[in-house]
Amino acid sequence: MKANGVEVPLFIEGEAGPGSAWVERQNPARTTETVGRVATADAGETRRAIEAASRAFPAWSSLGLDEREAQLMRAAEALRARDDELAQLLARELGKVLPDCKGELAFGNAFLKHSIDATRRLGINDELDDEQGRLLVTRRPYGVVGAITPWNAPVLLAMLKVGPALATGNVVVVKPSPLVPLAVTQTLITIAELLPPGVINVVQGEAEVGCTLVSHSKVRKVAFTGGVVTARSVMRGAAETIKPLVLELGGNDPAIFLNNADLSPETMTRAVFGTFLNSGQVCMAAKRLYVHEFILADFVDAYREAADAALVVGDPLNEEVTVGPMASPEGVARVEELLEDARARGGTVHTLGQVQNGFALEEGWFLRPSLVTGLGDDARLVREEQFGPTVPVLSFQDEEELLVRINDSDLALASSVWSADEVRAFALAQRVEAGFTFVNCHNRVGLSLRAPFGGWKQSGFGREFGDAGVAEYLQLHTINRPATVRASGTSTTGRAYPGV
Ligand code: NAD
Repeated sequence: MKANGVEVPLFIEGEAGPGSAWVERQNPARTTETVGRVATADAGETRRAIEAASRAFPAWSSLGLDEREAQLMRAAEALRARDDELAQLLARELGKVLPDCKGELAFGNAFLKHSIDATRRLGINDELDDEQGRLLVTRRPYGVVGAITPWNAPVLLAMLKVGPALATGNVVVVKPSPLVPLAVTQTLITIAELLPPGVINVVQGEAEVGCTLVSHSKVRKVAFTGGVVTARSVMRGAAETIKPLVLELGGNDPAIFLNNADLSPETMTRAVFGTFLNSGQVCMAAKRLYVHEFILADFVDAYREAADAALVVGDPLNEEVTVGPMASPEGVARVEELLEDARARGGTVHTLGQVQNGFALEEGWFLRPSLVTGLGDDARLVREEQFGPTVPVLSFQDEEELLVRINDSDLALASSVWSADEVRAFALAQRVEAGFTFVNCHNRVGLSLRAPFGGWKQSGFGREFGDAGVAEYLQLHTINRPATVRASGTSTTGRAYPGV
């Protein structure tokens, strides 16, 4: 580490490079402290990375899965050896509390093994040779995959793309977000150094780098996680080369508490973290709470009590702290604007949790967590993704009417149903418009490596996790010789439909 923090290079074809400019990153918990800087690329360097990946593809894709597994597991081992150092760096640049950063690294690492196992389960070939003829359906990699990722869980969100892409025989050019760039770039370089040159390339930078990746004819697929507005630009950029996409976008997740939901401190604490992990900066956070009016008053009391006990705002490196700062002043301003709109509409903002003893919140981009009561469905905090530490609570009487209200949204990423009756919860869950519904939990705790995750509507398409998330990186190739054209066959004119 240098005096002014960590210095992270570009990484193209097995070599670290200085890039064309540097981007500095402040510690969001103490903004006078520089955590480090990262080299950023321009369009030319991005094209160089794409060419390098393209050259690496034939050899990497020709390796057997066992050999790719051996190389990726060596990389996973090397990452484990750097876990503590990388987690500290991530906590300091993102503001996420240290145990969560350790968890993100471990989960990202587990994804390498999951990707190999899923590739093996998916199989490479389906082969049939029978009275209808000989049919071979093979699953083949695309080639160069462009991976564009956001800042809020930078390591995990990159690994969700790099793991399956590499396991299935693709090669990658990764463009992480320059807002929180250090730990993810170091993680990717650690893996890249153990693989053949060009298999992983990392180009930091802003929209110019992203646009070059999306529009380049040698990039055969793009996996993008980020906001809806950027995704529209990605779709436009991909149109020229008819490029397939995976889009994991924003959400405005409803959490539904039925009249028999458990209000014990344990369940309420789980609900609180369903919203406030990473200061609410999670795509699949519970972003609007709908509570049956029969239990509303008790719910608000129990929720506030659990939050006051569980949420301690302060330095993400302090072990008692559970909520760090937001990642940027723009994020703070967005949430403050939504709270102002809520107050103007007659809503009441209840501050939650405590502040770490003696800690000065004004030294960083902090916002105290809050619960907002008294809002109608039209409030901006209900209709828009807040992506920060506040959440509105609304009531409902009738489940049919509730479904109309929650489904009236262009975003449909995740959702949750909370009930003491699991059968009832699963029945209602099937009527919610969303790509994923948690039961009696929400957010990270409800994820599973085997459970495909992704959105509907403007929350995106394509999946991560599960076998489906790995299958995104394979394309089908069908080879067919119908029985009718066998040497001994009778119909060889080439004009008939099969079976007619
Ligand atoms: P963003 O859309 O601003 O940026 C995402 C990435 O796109 C960054 O790397 C950015 O540099 C890059 N980019 C910017 N302009 C580009 C362009 N024109 N072409 C190509 N790339 C470009 O999003 P963000 O602020 O980094 O992340 C927050 C958003 O991501 C939220 O909406 C959140 O809900 C969403 N998100 C979704 C998931 C999911 O799995 N569905 C996970 C995490 C975050």
